[in-house]
Amino acid sequence: MSLTVWPPAAVDHHALAADEVVLLMGGDPLRGLREEEAARRLRACGPNELPGAGRGGALRRWLNQFRNPLIYVLLVSGVVTALLGELVDSTVIFAVVLVNALVGHVQESRAEAALDGLRAMVRTRARAVRDGTVRTVPSDALVPGDLVLVEAGDKVPADMRLLRHNGLCVDESALTGESVPVAKDDAVLPADTPVADRRNMLYSAGLVTAGTGAGVVVATGAATEMGRIHRLVGGTRTLATPLTRKLAGFSTILTVGILALAVVTFAVGTARGEAAVEMLTAAVALAVGAIPEGLPAAVTITLAIGVSRMARRRAVVRRLPVVETLGSTTVICTDKTGTLTENQMTTRAIWTPAGVVEVTGAGYAPRGELLDPSGRPADLDRDQALRWTLLAGAACNDAALIERDGRWSVSGDPTEAAMVVAAAKAGLGRERIHAELPRIGEIPFSSERRYMATLHTRAGGEKVICVKGAVERIVGMCRAQMDADGRAVPLDRAAAEAAADRLAGRGLRVLATAVAFPPGHASREEFHAGALDGTLVLTGMQAMQDPPRPAAARAVRTCREAGIAVKMITGDHASTASALARQIGLLDGGGRVLTGADLDALPGPEYSRALEEAVVVARVSPEQKLRMVQVLQGRGHVVAMTGDGVNDAPALRRADIGIAMGRGGTEVARDAADMVLVDDDFATIEAAAEEGRGVFDNITKFIAWTLPTNIGEGMVILVAVLLGLTLPILPVQILWINMTTAVLLGLMLAFEPKEEGIMRRPPRAPDRPLLTGALVTRVLVVSALLVGGAWWLFRWELADGAGMAEARTAAINLFVAVQAFYLFSCRSLTGPMRRSGVFANRWIWGGVGLQLLAQLAITYWAPMNTVFQTAPIAGHTWLRVLALALLATVIVTVDKRLRRAHW
Ligand code: ATP
Repeated sequence: MSLTVWPPAAVDHHALAADEVVLLMGGDPLRGLREEEAARRLRACGPNELPGAGRGGALRRWLNQFRNPLIYVLLVSGVVTALLGELVDSTVIFAVVLVNALVGHVQESRAEAALDGLRAMVRTRARAVRDGTVRTVPSDALVPGDLVLVEAGDKVPADMRLLRHNGLCVDESALTGESVPVAKDDAVLPADTPVADRRNMLYSAGLVTAGTGAGVVVATGAATEMGRIHRLVGGTRTLATPLTRKLAGFSTILTVGILALAVVTFAVGTARGEAAVEMLTAAVALAVGAIPEGLPAAVTITLAIGVSRMARRRAVVRRLPVVETLGSTTVICTDKTGTLTENQMTTRAIWTPAGVVEVTGAGYAPRGELLDPSGRPADLDRDQALRWTLLAGAACNDAALIERDGRWSVSGDPTEAAMVVAAAKAGLGRERIHAELPRIGEIPFSSERRYMATLHTRAGGEKVICVKGAVERIVGMCRAQMDADGRAVPLDRAAAEAAADRLAGRGLRVLATAVAFPPGHASREEFHAGALDGTLVLTGMQAMQDPPRPAAARAVRTCREAGIAVKMITGDHASTASALARQIGLLDGGGRVLTGADLDALPGPEYSRALEEAVVVARVSPEQKLRMVQVLQGRGHVVAMTGDGVNDAPALRRADIGIAMGRGGTEVARDAADMVLVDDDFATIEAAAEEGRGVFDNITKFIAWTLPTNIGEGMVILVAVLLGLTLPILPVQILWINMTTAVLLGLMLAFEPKEEGIMRRPPRAPDRPLLTGALVTRVLVVSALLVGGAWWLFRWELADGAGMAEARTAAINLFVAVQAFYLFSCRSLTGPMRRSGVFANRWIWGGVGLQLLAQLAITYWAPMNTVFQTAPIAGHTWLRVLALALLATVIVTVDKRLRRAHW
């Protein structure tokens, strides 16, 4: 079908019957689009994604650089000096503003680009039917007319008219603000139904919380309802975080204070009879010098660098504030399967009431044997319970084995894959099982239910129910167990549970299987969760191995050293979980192993204490996870929590850092998370925590550097005017120092690598102020050294017979030298600089080199001498500059030593 206008003009899809919509969209309700047609439409309509920031965004970002009270003051100062005819001063001021805005703009653009790139790493995938087969495609490749399947855990990838549904519920809060999931159906609705009530439509960005459904795509990308909203709000993304907001508040207060000082300077100076124009320039220089204009840019840049460093370590940050929070994390609650383990399941042993069979072979290759206790291959015909354990495991199963070039991999859940492999090793291939036991109904697995059940027919119309799941759950639903001849005999519950414990004690993950042969009349309607209790026959158990991830033990140890508690919160059995915990050293320092039910049985205060002591909490349901987060937070913890299922979303949202999995896990969990682990690995969380600490350190380092510099610059003028002394450094010279050092020296701290030993410190208390007492003292000491040193050298030079311009040039160079030396001191807040590696940050050396060139230019280059009223200085003056700068450094180092304990 060729369409001239595509997609069709605005139509009320909800007011049409489903098949009419399919026809209108040129789709096919069963076979979906042909691949070529989909490709053609993709070219015509463009990718299914919301438009990015684009050119308008760049302009807005540029203008945003100027939206800061500190910058307003600078701009007004520039205009005032220009009006006064002080063109050099005003040029320097405007240059300060422009250079800062440029640096901020470039870095923010890079940060945005990095964030966009990261989004692509965790791209949403969708299941579309094309050419009659279900394909997994990136959701941006969907086109109008595509037939798309959704199930619980998916994010709705485009606007769709619903064709089929089965218990489908969708959380549309992103679109409508309605937080309760809406039940969907396919009935035709009146044309004037508002978006929130269109139950036969699925809208892009909705989250499927339950059930399954199929729909035909009616709009993609900007044409979707979400696209419309996106246009309305302008699609602005902000790089603001609690810290940047706190700093913005701080900037405002600072600006007011500095302005007040500038006014005082002007008033005192003119009262003393100085020329008003001169005092005005002095006041402006004071304001410009004292304003830490580099601060907002430095913070954003540091955060952005942190985000990309984390991405390099495979942690994708979805919300920027989390970078700060990571540095304060005190507890990490982590999943077991896939995060601490490889999630590569291999059935190692099978228990049946007749005994234990060991399974050989490694990985997913269906090569290996089932050996009975005497070491002979097990005979399925002589042990019906074993045969049914394998059959039920493989039939009640959605995983598939894939062979490519002799290498075996799986699609679907690894636990299920292990069962497919075990059956195949015994000669029960998937095709054979499908042919013998075609499936006609299913109760999907959920973490709350902890089992999955399927209904099958056999030749002759007989029905079979196959069930697999957590041992206690399955055993609890059984009325009997199967013997070797396939007969139902009384259930020996204690024997089954003891066997499960033994296998779990070997660190194996144990799942039980059961079957039921309902009487012929049993229909699909009677096949539901409640109807299984007391009807099942236990066939056996499969015990599978899931090796720990190689880096898990080291990462756990590092977290411990860093004062971060690690708790394994798992849906699995307590014995399996504690065996793994022992392997990776989680139980090394003691700690309790509990189950969700153990905890829930405790009264409030004891619950809280037990949870604090627990290292492993097994058999946990998603709701229990939510309560754990709340209780831990109540105890003052900053909690990072992993999750992968639909029902984990509330706990992920509630946690200070919600962490979802990039490979496993659902879109719903990813949507609720602050951070996504690309490789699902626990070690990545530890790496991210480390980077988070680094970011906070660097921001603190920048503040520790910039404040004394700015205070010093302001004070030089303030003191001179208030005391009626000759200015040792002129306003225009202050502007020069300010412009060059902020960009060439201070900003380079943003690139500082993490300090060694960063993970041997306790976490930062979240309410700890940026300016601790020790930091404030250091700021004051350095400010005093800058002002005092410049003053002293200025006088010394004059006393030695130097000219005014020369003495001032010496003072300027001393000022800059102290700033440069102090910059190195700021590279480590507590220890000596060499702790961070002298050449570890090349940017700093580059910046210092450029600053030196700039100083040589202003000292010796005649045109600059004229503009900035400087003069060449002699060699011995440089020696004095160096000696004084070194003296200042010694004083700072002593101060650092004395206060080390206070950081
Ligand atoms: P973790 O929370 O650490 O990832 P988990 O994977 O064991 O551990 P859940 O996925 O909540 O946690 O599973 C809980 C229990 O349900 C498992 O221990 C297992 O007994 C059972 N189970 C897991 N997957 C399936 C499945 N596909 N079908 C049937 N039962 C399952």
